[in-house]
Amino acid sequence: MTFDHDLFVIGGGSGGVRAARIAAGEHGASVALAEQSRMGGTCVIRGCVPKKLMVFASSAPDAVSEARAYGWDARPGRFDWPVFRGRLEAELTRLEGAYRATLARAGVTVHDQRAVVVDPHTVELADGTRITARHILIATGGRPFVPDFPGRDLAITSNEVFHMPEFPARVLIVGGGYIASEFACILHGLGADVVQSYRGAQILRGFDDEARGHVANAMRARGIDIRCGTSVMGLERSTDGILARLTDGHDRSYDVVLYATGRVPNTAGLGLEPLGIPLGRNGQVPVDVHGQTVIPSIFAVGDVTDRVNLTPVAIRDGHAFADTVFGARPWVSDHDLVASAVFTRPELGAVGLTEEQAREQGPIEVYAAAFRPMRQAFAGGEDRVLMKLVVCADTRRVLGCHIVAPEAGELIQLAAIAVKMGATKEDFDRTVAVHPTMAEELVTLRHPVRKA
Ligand code: NDP
Repeated sequence: MTFDHDLFVIGGGSGGVRAARIAAGEHGASVALAEQSRMGGTCVIRGCVPKKLMVFASSAPDAVSEARAYGWDARPGRFDWPVFRGRLEAELTRLEGAYRATLARAGVTVHDQRAVVVDPHTVELADGTRITARHILIATGGRPFVPDFPGRDLAITSNEVFHMPEFPARVLIVGGGYIASEFACILHGLGADVVQSYRGAQILRGFDDEARGHVANAMRARGIDIRCGTSVMGLERSTDGILARLTDGHDRSYDVVLYATGRVPNTAGLGLEPLGIPLGRNGQVPVDVHGQTVIPSIFAVGDVTDRVNLTPVAIRDGHAFADTVFGARPWVSDHDLVASAVFTRPELGAVGLTEEQAREQGPIEVYAAAFRPMRQAFAGGEDRVLMKLVVCADTRRVLGCHIVAPEAGELIQLAAIAVKMGATKEDFDRTVAVHPTMAEELVTLRHPVRKA
């Protein structure tokens, strides 16, 4: 049987673009890709990249006050949201162009429209064109999930936050995960009065308890009103903005209400269930370690599979798929010991097991230090850094590393190499410190603070 292409990729985000580029550019496959929105997907267009640029923007007031403490005659100015938003948009347009250029260089045919699957080897574009391929890759990612409640339409999500017409003076953020906590810090840093409402007992569930407590304390100390154990009963338009009623009785008006209550895979109407691919509880596509679905010609990578929902994982999944299927070089994208960072202020970086998870597996020793870093302490800053290692008492392996600090995202990337290599506490100990740094604490932690 002959096909129009060797591979048809649905979705031009991190996973889909990498798979298409490697399959076509390195393995000579004939590849087409459909994207219904802007090329680059969530990470580039409405996620990691614009978020990180907003993190940078929000750090300016701290830089100014620190500069003053270091003797500079620096003064905070006014944040001009339309100016920043325009520059942000220009940067995203540049990046989108770079993604398109990469695909063009690799020889990938791009269709700027939605595609759905109609049979194991055929997709249909929104304009009705049908295209056949030996393999189909589902890389459609995810989208924000907002629960049903009265006044739901008044809330925005992370999709809209980058396009707000005006910068809001008062913001309610709902949720306690990555996005909610990051945007609480970003919008507060840019000058908004921020309330964060979270239904659980402590934000950043899933991270090490001590580390999440450390971040929450620092956020509160900066003036973010984190209200745990609260839910929104409803939103209504008021003369003064959007009136939010919280279960703790804290009723007040906001200019923007941002829901960051998780994300769900983009599989609605994609045509998978009629083909016999059963979707998971969140709508995810079940796959094996190679990303293959129950239909041998259809694969899926990235957030649409709802496993480790992070850009670098989707990129690896896409690369492994392309090498395995088109390069005769089979390998499996390893989802174990994936480090991640939450770009709160201070940042939280983590790799491996939390203290709570490690304790379930056997005896452990916990090494930790909390201190005011030199740079901020000189400037009168109150934020404390946390460096923490969770060590297996039997094998001495470092099972988890948790860092709360400025640039913790950068630090954890390096610590993750050691943890992934199976480093022991003694390996850390025999590494000579780089002085004076914050990270040197990781190699000078002498005595366990706890054994469990
Ligand atoms: P998360 O899964 O991190 O957090 C969702 C939050 O919403 C949780 O606090 C959850 O509460 C809460 N929640 C879920 N359902 C409801 C509900 N019905 N009512 C009220 N609250 C609810 O999702 P995010 O949206 O923050 O981020 C999505 C994913 O994107 C992340 O999991 C991560 O994989 C990725 N991401 C990664 C980033 C990074 O690497 N820096 C940055 C941003 C996103 P509970 O804890 O009680 O379940």
